[in-house]
Amino acid sequence: MKTRQFVLASRPQGLPSSETFRIENIVLNELKDNEVLLKSWYISVDPYMRGRMNDVKSYAASFEVGIPIKGSVVAKVIESKTKSLVKGDIVTGYLPWAEYCNEKAENLRKVDTRTVPPGYYLGILGMPGLTAYFGIMDIGKPKTGETVVISGAAGAVGIVAGQIAKTQGAWVVGITGSDDKCKLLKEQFGFDEALNYKNTKNLKKAIAEICPKGVDVYYDNVGGEITDAVIANLNFHSRIALCGQISLYNSTRIPMGPAILPTLLTRSVKLQGFIVGNYADHFEEARRQLTKWVIDGTLKYTETIIDGFDKLPEAFLGLFAGKNQGKMLIKIE
Ligand code: NDP
Repeated sequence: MKTRQFVLASRPQGLPSSETFRIENIVLNELKDNEVLLKSWYISVDPYMRGRMNDVKSYAASFEVGIPIKGSVVAKVIESKTKSLVKGDIVTGYLPWAEYCNEKAENLRKVDTRTVPPGYYLGILGMPGLTAYFGIMDIGKPKTGETVVISGAAGAVGIVAGQIAKTQGAWVVGITGSDDKCKLLKEQFGFDEALNYKNTKNLKKAIAEICPKGVDVYYDNVGGEITDAVIANLNFHSRIALCGQISLYNSTRIPMGPAILPTLLTRSVKLQGFIVGNYADHFEEARRQLTKWVIDGTLKYTETIIDGFDKLPEAFLGLFAGKNQGKMLIKIE
């Protein structure tokens, strides 16, 4: 079987460009016992992949130059040499950015696409949904009537985090990068307020106005000046779920910000950075809860789906320009 795959062509300095990626044509090996031949259907692009393009020590190994980029994929089984999967099954796994690939059955999870759209297994029922779930339920732990602020609110994680906070009776404010996204958060996803950081001059003041009782939980997806402004509005005994820092992922130097530790100290703030993998032992229970909420309509979701394998780099770069509402995905027919 012939296939095309994207490899990391070179390590980017700053924002990746077309030179970061290269398409290769290859021929797959013969299928071995316990393997399946997969055709990619939906491929996820995620901000964390930017970190993996650097050659630095982190919680996950770096991508190697000349080796296929890998990420979460929903794929169809085309041929099977295992009893556990048959042709036509839909699976999800950590797979190469390729049109076709061979994979061991033990590394794949079969999913049911009759009740939820296939892309949801890469979004609300995948890694982003799990991240939102644990960040809110285990770290933020909002109580009824508390104010929860979410940055990167209209993205794959943020939309879910905000809605889960609503299930706990919180008053939820989203910070995002356009008026359309603010409208979406309030009208479709039940956020109480939303703030467009791109047209707000004094963020600290705007957050104070929009959160008159102060901020009890901050779910941070972006870092930088937005986070500085939220921290200035934190209440006593507030919590920060430190999930992501996308505003800094393409920085070649870490910018200086205000010294936040005195604020955290004097307001008894609990700050916890976390990686979703820390919660692997609890994925099954979280998936069950998220699936229930999706099916009974408690949680809604949206996706930005771009057609065509060739568009993978464009979709990935779009994350850093705010081109997505909800989960950014590539679809391959
Ligand atoms: P999103 O779907 O939210 O896509 C990224 C969004 O970030 C963009 O749409 C854009 O929205 C916003 N953004 C981009 N650049 C900036 C910037 N300079 N300043 C502010 N906002 C910016 O991504 P995910 O939901 O998948 O991920 C959200 C965050 O969560 C990321 O930081 C990611 O790394 C992190 N994450 C962490 C995990 C963990 O285990 N800790 C797991 C999964 C994700 P806008 O229009 O609002 O600017």
